[in-house]
Amino acid sequence: MSKILIVLYPDPVTGYPPEYARDTIPSINDYPGGATLPSPQALDFTPGELLGCVSGGLGLRDWLESEGHTVVVTSDKEGPDSVFERELPDADIVISQPFWPAYLTPERIEKARNLKLVVTAGIGSDHTDLDAANARGITVAEVTYSNSISVAEHTVMQVLVLVRDFVKQHEISAAGGWNIADAVERSYDLEGMRVGVFAAGRIGRAVIERLAPFGVHLSYTDRFRLSEDYERKYNLTYHDSIESLVQNIDVLTVHAPLTAETRGLLNTELLNTMPRGAYIVNPARAAIADRDAIVQALESGQLAGYAGDVWDPQPAPVDHPWRTMPHNAMTPHTSGTSLSGQARYAAGTREILEDWFAGNDIRPEYLIVEGGSYKGVGATSYAKVPTKADEGQAELSQATS
Ligand code: NDP
Repeated sequence: MSKILIVLYPDPVTGYPPEYARDTIPSINDYPGGATLPSPQALDFTPGELLGCVSGGLGLRDWLESEGHTVVVTSDKEGPDSVFERELPDADIVISQPFWPAYLTPERIEKARNLKLVVTAGIGSDHTDLDAANARGITVAEVTYSNSISVAEHTVMQVLVLVRDFVKQHEISAAGGWNIADAVERSYDLEGMRVGVFAAGRIGRAVIERLAPFGVHLSYTDRFRLSEDYERKYNLTYHDSIESLVQNIDVLTVHAPLTAETRGLLNTELLNTMPRGAYIVNPARAAIADRDAIVQALESGQLAGYAGDVWDPQPAPVDHPWRTMPHNAMTPHTSGTSLSGQARYAAGTREILEDWFAGNDIRPEYLIVEGGSYKGVGATSYAKVPTKADEGQAELSQATS
């Protein structure tokens, strides 16, 4: 029997369960490209319920306890006296979500002597130190595709919110005002704008496909070029670097993973090469952008708006400058945790656990690391790509060995 430590965001302040706005969610049959939805043997929740918070428990608690496992569900994850720190040393399995990440640092992994499996209920496992997990032979899995479309829809919303300048207009109407000139002094149409997509993976391509009908000029950069057919279908221009992409666009959307290569990429130097008044929407990882460079670019007018969803760290401190910087449309890491997305990532987490307990293989599209190396989707999405600096270092080691 296993001890399973589940870290989830706190319940709604108004209590659990909330009053739901709708009775059902649409059923989706498959993901774009034919990937299949999670297929656990059973579900102990009704799709559409709030599952990502402590009382929701990802709909796993009753099933796990009926199988004889010990389950601890908590939102208390920071500091030496937190429930997470106290329960970690004898936990066999840790489950958390990128929205409320249980950071598994090398020190914590060292402390977690029983840890064998780490599951991200969602997508994005960079809150787990994957090198440390590999060194210990810990398996890390996530629920690939579960909320990719949720994030793509959120991206399209944030593009429109920034370009149309929605937030200010709504605030004026909610405050009883009617000054139309105030409301529209920064409001534009998206139609005709040049939109650049940084990284055309699952989310990036879904954004391209959803923005194309707006009559925008689309361009992108990625490590690999998309097929000619795809480029033609969406009238896409390819750039071989982010530096080249950002010089020619009005809106940048960011969908690359956080890696050594992408950390801090959106810095002052790069932002200054964008046309004045460009917008950035970054629902990927916050640390891809230099925090203070974004604030300065908004204050100087170099950027007309920034909308992101992910913060560094999470939860963001109350005085984080992105909360109050001008012309921001930040959200508190909600894009991938709509009630629709929750149903899919909770089901995928259950599928991973069912396979784990039965001794079956975890689907390759869910596997990040296993047996000491990057596996499945992790081998393409997370494995470190050698950089010029690494190559130089390797040459240096060869020369000196
Ligand atoms: P994918 O793995 O499908 O796509 C990532 C793309 O980035 C791939 O095409 C990859 O290329 C490309 N890429 C990687 N490194 C670079 C680089 N240095 N330069 C250019 N392109 C690069 O991931 P998803 O689309 O599913 O997700 C993207 C990111 O979004 C995740 O890593 C995660 O951090 C974030 N995310 C955020 C969520 C939220 O709730 N806000 C939820 C889900 C994800 P290649 O194919 O060569 O690897």
